[in-house]
Amino acid sequence: MSIRLRLTLLYSAIVALTLVLFSSLLYVTLDRVMLANVEQTLHDETQRLLINARERSGLLGPVIEFPASKVTAPTTYVQLREVNGANLQRSPSLERVDFDLPLSDAARAEVLDRLTAKDTVIVEGQRLRIHSNLVTTRDGRAFIIQVARSLAEQDAALGQLRRLLIAGSLLATVLAFGIGWVLAGTALRPIDRITQTAQAIGAERDFGRRVSYDGPQDEIGRLATTFNAMLAALQAAYRQEAQALEAQRRFVADASHELRTPLTTIRGNIGLLRRTPPIDEADRVAVLSDMAEEAERMSRLVNDLLSLARADTGRPLRSEPVPLQPLIDDLCRNARLLEPNLDIACANTLDVAVQGDPDALKQVLLILLDNAIKFTPPGGAVRLTTTLRDGSVAISVEDTGIGIPPEALPHIFERFFRADSARTGGGAGLGLAIAKTLVERQRGTITVVSAPGQGSTFTIVLPRSATPPESRSAPEAAAAPAV
Ligand code: ADP
Repeated sequence: MSIRLRLTLLYSAIVALTLVLFSSLLYVTLDRVMLANVEQTLHDETQRLLINARERSGLLGPVIEFPASKVTAPTTYVQLREVNGANLQRSPSLERVDFDLPLSDAARAEVLDRLTAKDTVIVEGQRLRIHSNLVTTRDGRAFIIQVARSLAEQDAALGQLRRLLIAGSLLATVLAFGIGWVLAGTALRPIDRITQTAQAIGAERDFGRRVSYDGPQDEIGRLATTFNAMLAALQAAYRQEAQALEAQRRFVADASHELRTPLTTIRGNIGLLRRTPPIDEADRVAVLSDMAEEAERMSRLVNDLLSLARADTGRPLRSEPVPLQPLIDDLCRNARLLEPNLDIACANTLDVAVQGDPDALKQVLLILLDNAIKFTPPGGAVRLTTTLRDGSVAISVEDTGIGIPPEALPHIFERFFRADSARTGGGAGLGLAIAKTLVERQRGTITVVSAPGQGSTFTIVLPRSATPPESRSAPEAAAAPAV
């Protein structure tokens, strides 16, 4: 059953119940008031007749006189009976309708016992209210006086009221149902629209759709706004997911392509080695060295891919103070040994620590230093400098190498991007992508400034550690036993 129908039914049921309660109350109250009226009339009439009867004595003539003026209404009936129930005298009104007021044995016993009894009986299709009383005349005789009034008028009025109340209540309930149905429909229409939009989105996967709602910001308004906000978030997430999937697809395609090149070379070379008659010794040596080179390239590529996969999703990076001086000194010393033809300088490294992962930071600096060395011709210079930038530390790797063309700069950190494949030095274009991922995972940034023919400067900025490098060693020194 729909909410609309349920709401309408509930609403109509409440209206109907209220009407039934109200009508019943009205009916019962009116019934009581009218009956009380009749009771009062009967009581007054009885009192008058009792006085009248007590005044009289002897058996001559009627016990009660019914002068025309004293009979209040033609629907008031009076009957006089012996105490044994025998009929003695009837009022003219009773004579006219020609019936006796009934007196059951129980009523008669009650009158004799308590001097009075009240009863409602049905005579000839109409209800009569009867008051029966015991009266003793001056000469000591006892009679029963019955005074009755027809309730027909009251019943007719109440019957009319009942019909009116039933018809009115039914009409009001039907009206309430109709109005409730329309109101519930109007109130729930935006929810219908939301449902339709949700269905359409489910069918078409179009997260760009929105629910159109221009009503007030009530519960429904807030629902529409929240639904639209949720759609916007879903759309963004969906787009992001699609981009990530596309990037992943490109990455897999690029990785396969990169791996296929050395594999093709190696397979070709194996074919050469298998030839009969065999190739001559000089060619064999050249082919083997070619194969070794390709195998090495492949292994470098696989290592890079592994690093990237780890940086992307692998273990969580540590976040601890990393003193820069020992790390940079170490890197420089090794670089100088490997590249004696370059002027590699790491002077004036600040004695500070950054907050990060020591292994990840070392890997990033190795990538930058390796690139700087790779793309700087002999005689050139490579500098590693550190500077403070409010709350952070910037580490720059500057070279006087070939530089990067401006059109390549925006793509330099993309996976498998090489600015100039002729001068890549055998790299697969993954180093900077790895560096960027690792830096960002340490809440840092990496940027590049470069001019072709003049050189490049890569700068990473990492949060400065609150714990200075000296204070880290202090507790260790304190803990050392005094000699
Ligand atoms: P690769 O492993 O090929 O070096 P990288 O991601 O480290 O991959 O670098 C991507 C490209 O950026 C390189 O192929 C090169 O063209 C350019 N590049 C990186 N560092 C430098 C640099 N210091 N000087 C000039 N070009 C650079």
